[in-house]
Amino acid sequence: MALMKYAPQALKNLFMKPATKKYPLEKPVYPDGSRGHVTISIDECISCGMCARACPNGALKVDRNAGTWTIDRFDCIACGYCVLKCPKKCLFMEKGYQTPGPEKKEETFTKSPEVLAAEEEKRKEAARKAAEAKAAMAAKAAGESKPAEEKKD
Ligand code: SF4
Ligand code: SF4
Repeated sequence: MALMKYAPQALKNLFMKPATKKYPLEKPVYPDGSRGHVTISIDECISCGMCARACPNGALKVDRNAGTWTIDRFDCIACGYCVLKCPKKCLFMEKGYQTPGPEKKEETFTKSPEVLAAEEEKRKEAARKAAEAKAAMAAKAAGESKPAEEKKD
């Protein structure tokens, strides 16, 4: 009796295309709106850390000095908040999923040597300007206090 119940569907399936795909030979097509996984254009990142502060799961780490951005994909819930918060728009939700692997590990992206060198140069320039401004203010303060001291004499 049960056989008769399923026979029409079984016959129909014989003439239908397979419902499964020959992955990985046949690449999947992800529908619009699927979130996939977070990725970064690391050289555009300014290491502000807003993405890491916005992440509800603490899945992100930003190291300004090392020029790295690290994600723990096992903690990421693909909510997309980091992408929304990034002021440089260098984070993206990329369709598709990561290649499966045997280990649970973080993924770290590092800025290119050229970008790191340019950032180091900017830091030095900013430090030099700050030192100059400090020296100028100290000189101005010394100049303003001098007449008062002279008046006392
Ligand atoms: S998508 Fe959500 S959970 Fe994943 S890293 Fe971004 S903010 Fe964190
Ligand atoms: S919010 Fe954007 S620019 Fe800021 S650290 Fe994260 S990825 Fe970099």
